[in-house]
Amino acid sequence: MNFILFGPPGAGKGTQGALLAERFDFLRLSTGDMLREALAAGTQLGLEARKFMAAGELVPDTVILGMVRDVMASPAARAGVVFDGFPRTTAQAEGLGDLLRDLGTKLDAVLVLDVEDEELVRRLAGRVACPNCGAVYNRFTDPPRSEDTCDRCGGTLVQREDDREDTVRRRLHVYREQTAPVLAFYEAAGVPVHHIAGDRPVEEVQRELARHIGR
Ligand code: ADP
Ligand code: AMP
Repeated sequence: MNFILFGPPGAGKGTQGALLAERFDFLRLSTGDMLREALAAGTQLGLEARKFMAAGELVPDTVILGMVRDVMASPAARAGVVFDGFPRTTAQAEGLGDLLRDLGTKLDAVLVLDVEDEELVRRLAGRVACPNCGAVYNRFTDPPRSEDTCDRCGGTLVQREDDREDTVRRRLHVYREQTAPVLAFYEAAGVPVHHIAGDRPVEEVQRELARHIGR
């Protein structure tokens, strides 16, 4: 089973995707995480992506599709994939369709987390993450036990550069202009698109997602 966790930045895709992957053994494929890892490792791809990410713009489709193709070719993808933060353009959605077809598989559903802009801005202003193990917290709603220290691994928590308010506004604009139209693409293609109210406690949202994927 392959599905997309869709929604604006801050909607909870990473949080929910990590839980689904852990509970039901999916591979979580987050293009944002992959780009940040490339950046941290100082690879050519990371360096290329950096200026787009810092500005809150999308990284070019060819770069993203190349990355996704590599992961999808790995055996880990066969158990089923939850796509997080991908596809973000209609061209990426078309590319994913071709890729899945070549692999003899398909997309089962698009699960959309709906959250109001003001709540997104608030969530992203409070988001901190551990660069060491990837755990994500929120200073307001889900703080670590000890300030700035990861509960899981003791790493020092950091705020993402692109979670500053001006960049967040730009990312929300880019979402509306370039990413939201992907939903119409899937509706036209006959892929089931389910909307889920994302402004509820994490476990409630998780239960509804699980129900939609028949778990
Ligand atoms: P996305 O991956 O869609 O950008 P995240 O999963 O990183 O979003 O969540 C953004 C921020 O909001 C994080 O700080 C996270 O802890 C917090 N968060 C996630 N889900 C919820 C929720 N249901 N209620 C309140 N805060 C949440
Ligand atoms: P995310 O972690 O999903 O919020 O992504 C952070 C940033 O990485 C985005 O603002 C983009 O600059 C870039 N990015 C992540 N995924 C994609 C994608 N599928 N297409 C284009 N850019 C992406």
